[in-house]
Amino acid sequence: MKKEGILFVISAPSGAGKTSLCKEVVDIFKNLRHSVSYTTRKARPGELHGRDYFFIPPEEFQRMVSAGEFAEWAEVHGNFYGTALKTLHEYRTNGVDVILDIDCQGARQLKEHYSGGVFIFILPPSYGELRRRLDCRNSDACDVIERRLENAAGEIRESRWYDYIIVNDVFSKAVEELKAVLVAERCRTSRVIETVADMFELEKGVS
Ligand code: 5GP
Repeated sequence: MKKEGILFVISAPSGAGKTSLCKEVVDIFKNLRHSVSYTTRKARPGELHGRDYFFIPPEEFQRMVSAGEFAEWAEVHGNFYGTALKTLHEYRTNGVDVILDIDCQGARQLKEHYSGGVFIFILPPSYGELRRRLDCRNSDACDVIERRLENAAGEIRESRWYDYIIVNDVFSKAVEELKAVLVAERCRTSRVIETVADMFELEKGVS
């Protein structure tokens, strides 16, 4: 039987750089895929349906909620976002690790249902730097930026229950730290013992 893929869940306040970090590790690691979420938010310039998100109307999102098609979903900054159960299932049953870039509400829902999931929080180096990064993005209106900054304080308080915290001050350093977490988790005894037991004719299970 194929080993089940690992679920890596990444959260951060908007502007901490988690989308870039996720893209970077997905490019580096074979056998790691980004889970494309569904959202009712409008696409920003340069975003592609099916690559960045599945952009769907609110009625379709509601239908998916009612049909139990989401592993988790949440309202974030006035829009709805969700991870399809189908996406996670397809990757993981094929032994592919999957990385989710989702907010804290969604991460909490997954924490309750996926005991083997790995939860990683990305922090900006300071509030000042977070504001600077959001200002530079220029892709959102001022009121949207203010709303995101207000939400950041609450999100940062959530970091305490995650398994790992990475401060994204220097991007290349944050990438190295994230890579280290992924590699270490892939080597966790509970994940490799079955394979090792077969190789060396050991008893299965951890003691
Ligand atoms: P953005 O609109 O800037 O792409 O994302 C806004 C927030 O929604 C980010 O914190 C992002 O991580 C979160 N998000 C994206 N996809 C999902 C999802 O499928 N579920 C949840 N709960 N949050 C998501």
